[in-house]
Amino acid sequence: MILIQGKGVSSGVVKGKLYFYERPDTTVVKTTVDDLEAEKARLAEAQAKSIAQLEALAEKCREEAGDESAILFETHAMFVEDDDYVECIMETLDDEQCNAEYAVEVAGEQFAQMFAAMDDAYMQARAADIKDVTRRILNNLMGIPEGGIDSDEPVILAADDLAPSETIQMDKSKILGFATQGGSGNSHTAILARTMGIPAVCGMGEALKKDYHGRLAYIDGDEGTVVLDPDELTLTALKQKYAEQQERKALLETMKGQEDVTLDGRKVNLYCNIGSPDDVNAVLANDGQGIGLFRSEFLYLATNDYPTEEDQFQAYKTVAAAMGGKRVIIRTLDIGADKQVDYFQLNKEENPALGMRAIRICLNRPEVFRTQLRALYRASAYGKIAIMFPMITSVWEVKECKRACQSVMKELAAEGIPFNPETEIGIMIETPASVFMARDLAKLVDFFSVGTNDLTQYTLACDRQCNDLGKFFDAHHPAVLRALKMAADAAHEAGIWIGICGELGADIELLPTFLAMGIDELSVSPSSVLPLRAEIRKSIAQTCTLELLEG
Ligand code: PEP
Ligand code: MG
Repeated sequence: MILIQGKGVSSGVVKGKLYFYERPDTTVVKTTVDDLEAEKARLAEAQAKSIAQLEALAEKCREEAGDESAILFETHAMFVEDDDYVECIMETLDDEQCNAEYAVEVAGEQFAQMFAAMDDAYMQARAADIKDVTRRILNNLMGIPEGGIDSDEPVILAADDLAPSETIQMDKSKILGFATQGGSGNSHTAILARTMGIPAVCGMGEALKKDYHGRLAYIDGDEGTVVLDPDELTLTALKQKYAEQQERKALLETMKGQEDVTLDGRKVNLYCNIGSPDDVNAVLANDGQGIGLFRSEFLYLATNDYPTEEDQFQAYKTVAAAMGGKRVIIRTLDIGADKQVDYFQLNKEENPALGMRAIRICLNRPEVFRTQLRALYRASAYGKIAIMFPMITSVWEVKECKRACQSVMKELAAEGIPFNPETEIGIMIETPASVFMARDLAKLVDFFSVGTNDLTQYTLACDRQCNDLGKFFDAHHPAVLRALKMAADAAHEAGIWIGICGELGADIELLPTFLAMGIDELSVSPSSVLPLRAEIRKSIAQTCTLELLEG
């Protein structure tokens, strides 16, 4: 038996083949070829494969979201065979006697530049589509699997670590669980696993060997272990755990449709965190009462170029409409730190968590901010959208954000585009500065939402990505809980509501503390809704105390 100990960051037991994720090298190197006909045959094969993939995607979209959303993939499929594009590739091949990859890359760049230089905003936005199609053909030429996983059956995805930009592009239906050498409980792989409701273990270091690729393994997200060739005793324990887990799930089903209210009548809004419109299915399946955090940056991480206003509008509108009038809080772009997006060309920083990230980028790049705000306000006509700004430290930032909102509303009104002028505006409390300024900030906004992942990191000076800090990274540290209390008091004094959207919100042990503080909303991974509801319904808010705030 091989037992690898790590840190369990998403609960549950699952059995499957370990699939070691290989980071694909996507750089195109120009080579000279002797057999040009063979190169053309490779190209034809990659084109045919791309068209087949795009047609399958269009079909899936048509089934799930109707004809309109399938159009994008149908257009991409047509572009693969576009006469001018193909002619350009062939010309490079013939003139330069080079490999197909190089010829495709040259054509892709030429066409993308041509579209980007056009006057019409719609045509300019098509440059991103061309880059997308080109990347697809290149991937097929280079043998890079679609969705990052080259397996017909779902697997346990193993890796050194996974960047948000990698996980977002993966085919989630192929992932049974995550096992990583690095990472931490607050890393985005962990958050994604909890959203998907699948087990994850991180921080296994070198003990998780690449040689294990393809071997059958059990992953236990509660114990933080990965087991290969279990002995009889371990196997029995794992099987029993799996059975108990299924039983618990069935029991929690009875919580669906029940109110999130304590025995003494205190209502807590139980919302969900999502990263993409697809995650709404998990919210609805777990009976989440709203969306407390839509991490909009994942729309930016999923593409190779800035998502257009239209692309964002469609995504926000889809979520708002699917939630049918329930509150959907969309956080504006929060990139930087661990969420790097190449096309933003951010400077390399010594301490990116303390650098140019989140609202700082938006306030420095008004055009990027304006595009997102326009999409958000346009979508506000189709549901109950609220806008939330991340990483706030100062009053002037909030004032500037609000000015940007006013200016976008004015533009839309002048263009006759519908929007909701009463759209709620909130901020994240995730820096110590925002806690100290909470009284002033509360006067400017409709709600606070505490990002405990970053608030813990910045309050305790503990990197949220670092797994070696051990007892120094104390999620229940009184300093963090006192900060939360200060923010809650400031919110309530100003007559606004306060929620928690960081991972601490789902911490059952802290529920009595949150109730004692009068926290109004908890936004958690969809899989945490029903366990938390069961706990809320057993609690008596009036008897809850703040004893954990004592040092
Ligand atoms: C947080 O910091 O707690 C939060 C919810 O935001 P993110 O994890 O995306 O930084
Ligand atoms: Mg944060």
